[in-house]
Amino acid sequence: MRTMILQVSVPRILLTRLLGRISPAAYFAPTSPLRLLDLPDPPLPAPDWVRVRNRLCGICGSDLHQLFVDASLDVAPVALPSHQRIYLGHEMVGRVVEAGAGVRDFKIGDRVVRWGRADDCVARGRAELCPACARGHRVLCEHASDPREHHPTGGGFGDSFITPANTLLPVPDDLSDEQAILVEPAAVAIHAAYRRPAEAGERVLVLGCGAIGFLLIQSIHALQPACEITAVAQFPWQADLALEYGAQHVFLASDDGFAETARLTGAKLYEGRAGNRMLLGGFDLIFDVVGIESTLNDALRWTRAGGAVVLVGVNLHPMRLDVTPVWYQEVDLIGAVGHDVVTWEGETLSTFELAMRWMQAGKLNCGKLLTHRFPLEDYREAFLTAIDKRDSRSIKVAFNLLER
Ligand SMILES: [Zn+2]
Ligand SMILES: [Zn+2]
Repeated sequence: MRTMILQVSVPRILLTRLLGRISPAAYFAPTSPLRLLDLPDPPLPAPDWVRVRNRLCGICGSDLHQLFVDASLDVAPVALPSHQRIYLGHEMVGRVVEAGAGVRDFKIGDRVVRWGRADDCVARGRAELCPACARGHRVLCEHASDPREHHPTGGGFGDSFITPANTLLPVPDDLSDEQAILVEPAAVAIHAAYRRPAEAGERVLVLGCGAIGFLLIQSIHALQPACEITAVAQFPWQADLALEYGAQHVFLASDDGFAETARLTGAKLYEGRAGNRMLLGGFDLIFDVVGIESTLNDALRWTRAGGAVVLVGVNLHPMRLDVTPVWYQEVDLIGAVGHDVVTWEGETLSTFELAMRWMQAGKLNCGKLLTHRFPLEDYREAFLTAIDKRDSRSIKVAFNLLER
């Protein structure tokens, strides 16, 4: 089994972060946490496990945060015990090549995507589910950090991995591999759209035009066709694509967002001292898909009284936030992480299943999202392409893992 891992150790992380300021080569150096290992194929540890051979795997923003050790050590999630080895790559599609005797739902040759981390109550086979798992929101499992026996499992950035079968979902034949690797980010976008569904006639802002942003624009419209979406992009080519994916208006992150919000929503703009600005009125609903200090502060101020901000972007640093809009304007600040179980047309299903259904029905178009593919051996170039959107114009970068 060839597989990519992060060796989690605080000295390694601190050293790499320090050296990374001098040269990006530090993130791939022998002193870094990143390794591409050749290990013997691990045996299936239990009858309900399967082995999957990867075909294609997308690089997620969260992979990049881990790889570029972009986290403060004092944020809440870092207090949780972490595995010594993190197997990178979850936006994968592959085929089942081996199944334990107890596996009922999959057979050899089935094409699958992975549901999520293999650490929740369901994956652990717990008889009693925690409240989050009972609700279906397995990403919020209360047992996710319980100790468990760690086999070398592998992940999506490698030729194969092993996992309990109940962490996988079958992929319908009419979805391509290229669509399948976007099922996980689409499931995340759909979950975010459900956290505060847009209402008819509402003005919605989507801050951030990466893969999740484009999938989110389409998911918001799938849930509520009668809302008006504005997108904020970093580069003009992203703005063009946002319009193509259904946004009615766009502006650039470098534009004056306060003036644009006033123009698009009719809000009144007030200016205090030293550039301190506030709006009365604004967007009904803002999705912050970037999730950094400046975008979240802007989002809270660009939302009308009684509106909501949904924080979708992943950021592992403490922020300096002006939260006065939360009480002074009663703006709701809502978080969103991972996937979920939702109700769609009277049916309860996971956002993974809904993502696949919406792709089949043409509600989620992702033909232009996969911009680059690399063999696993060229991982340095792949990761650098994924972070450099200006020159590479990358949206989703993936590893081609089919037999060489
Ligand atoms: Zn992801
Ligand atoms: Zn649980």
